[in-house]
Amino acid sequence: MDTGFPEKILQQHALKVTGRIFRNGNLAHAWLITGQEGTGKEQLARIMAGLLLCQAPHLDGELPRTCGTCSHCGKLSRNTHPDIHITEPDGAFIKVAQIHALQKNISYPPLEAENRAVLILHAHRMNREASNALLKTLEEPPDNTFLILTAKGTSSLLPTIISRCQVVSCSGLLHEDITDILVRQDGLEPATADVAARLSDGSLARAREMIESGLEFRDIFFKFIVLPPARRFSLFFDLSSMMSKDADRFMTAITVIQSVTRDMLLVKTSGNISLFINQDLLPAIKAAAARFSEDELSEYASRLEDMERLAARNVNREMLANSLLVFWAE
Ligand SMILES: [Zn+2]
Repeated sequence: MDTGFPEKILQQHALKVTGRIFRNGNLAHAWLITGQEGTGKEQLARIMAGLLLCQAPHLDGELPRTCGTCSHCGKLSRNTHPDIHITEPDGAFIKVAQIHALQKNISYPPLEAENRAVLILHAHRMNREASNALLKTLEEPPDNTFLILTAKGTSSLLPTIISRCQVVSCSGLLHEDITDILVRQDGLEPATADVAARLSDGSLARAREMIESGLEFRDIFFKFIVLPPARRFSLFFDLSSMMSKDADRFMTAITVIQSVTRDMLLVKTSGNISLFINQDLLPAIKAAAARFSEDELSEYASRLEDMERLAARNVNREMLANSLLVFWAE
């Protein structure tokens, strides 16, 4: 790895955030870098690895960089450093055997540097078994070991993975920037803009889709889950018919339900308020979360992912919608 970072390609913002994290010195043991293709998240992961391994990283400037001259930097630039481990999909998925092999490899102390960097690239392609196997390591990594995951977005990962990581976003747009555009150009209320932006995975177009049909669904969905059981029935069919109207609406609804499920899992697993998507409805989320166990919610989150795949094919959407909504109706 050379000393000059390609700042033009990288998201400067993400790099600045990284600099701040390193300067504060209180490093999380697991990070998740998110962003669409071409946003420089793998580069950022490698820079983080360099900062962890380098003997004398420069952290004072706005953008952090490695010294470029120590033995670790030399080995990093030649891709021969023994304390950096990289796991990538083998075919379509990262498989559980790869995670087990990694766990074996990192069970010894780092060989040369003070720290060890474990990169898991395209982490959204871990299959469920692999994700579950990794949880143990995310929770209690070996001493001086830091895990750096990269993924397309947080919507494609198990919430149990996300809640154990510090998230750094390389998304096309920051959620604050999207909020700003929606308020100024589209004339939305800040609170509404904020939620749409959080549901957008960094895409303005997606945020606008959310406003068009997602937020209306979300309003009714929240009414549905906080009503007493006997009164949920009438809204059940309203929601089901909204979801079944067409494929786009179905996917938008799934995104909304995913965000609610994930927020509820966050209530149970972490108190980090900034990670919540439905910031404006936290009391309702907390109340509804009390009805479910962490296992029930995790299992439901996996089902939502399966639905995403099923809905892309030509299946009976109404049937799928009903089978998803029944979880909340009972
Ligand atoms: Zn160095």
